[in-house]
Amino acid sequence: MSTEIYKLIDTHAHLDELEDLDKAIEEGKQAGLVAIIAVGQDRESNVKILEMSEKYKGFVYPALGLHPWSLCVSDASKIAGNLKFIEENITRAVAVGEIGLDYDKRVIARADKEPQKEVFRAVLELAGKYDKAVSVHSRYSWKDSFDMVKASGVKRAVFHWYTGFSSVLREIIAEGYFISATPAAEYHDEHRRAIRETLLQNLLLETDCPVTYGRETKYQARPSDVIRSLKAVAQIKGVSENVVADKTTENALRFFDLPGWTKKA
Ligand SMILES: [Zn+2]
Repeated sequence: MSTEIYKLIDTHAHLDELEDLDKAIEEGKQAGLVAIIAVGQDRESNVKILEMSEKYKGFVYPALGLHPWSLCVSDASKIAGNLKFIEENITRAVAVGEIGLDYDKRVIARADKEPQKEVFRAVLELAGKYDKAVSVHSRYSWKDSFDMVKASGVKRAVFHWYTGFSSVLREIIAEGYFISATPAAEYHDEHRRAIRETLLQNLLLETDCPVTYGRETKYQARPSDVIRSLKAVAQIKGVSENVVADKTTENALRFFDLPGWTKKA
């Protein structure tokens, strides 16, 4: 039995956390992936991601990040050092991310809302200054995250793995921003609802690998699992996989301004 191969882009992958990256890249290519956006979270992972984007040039594209979780384990000078690193290397990146706010109580206990916002504001400012897209983590902070992105004037933003309120989602869409679908779209009610309420033109696909997914059977995601995101979106929206693949890949090429996307005058 043959399965159709679609051209897909994993728009949010923590490649620096994967074991056997060569194999994961090869599997991804065989599964139809044409590009991966590798997101960083702290200075160490940003360094690795830049190296990977050289090694897999034209396939892995770097996004330089400062994850809210890194505030839990880094002191102020480390954060400042990463901000400086991002600015020094930003022209090599297609985006700034993963950045954002996380209001989960376990995170708040170690990094309060105000310091999180301060850092998020600083990194959004960089994205704005260099006209970069942003990949935003907005767990339980959907409204604040959206408001801060909008206030920063950043033009291209994706609220990755969105599971938040429909009211904020409407604002995201009205602003021309995006959300992205992970393999959790196979079973997670809030994520499925968000995808249902978002037009294909505002949707990207991703894996957030190596996140562990699944209800009964658990598995650790790899970039090739973006096919699960594709199939789940097609099923939720009742459109063919082909249409979802074409549209979301075109969206990603344009959103990240990747080679192969020609800006129309
Ligand atoms: Zn992530």
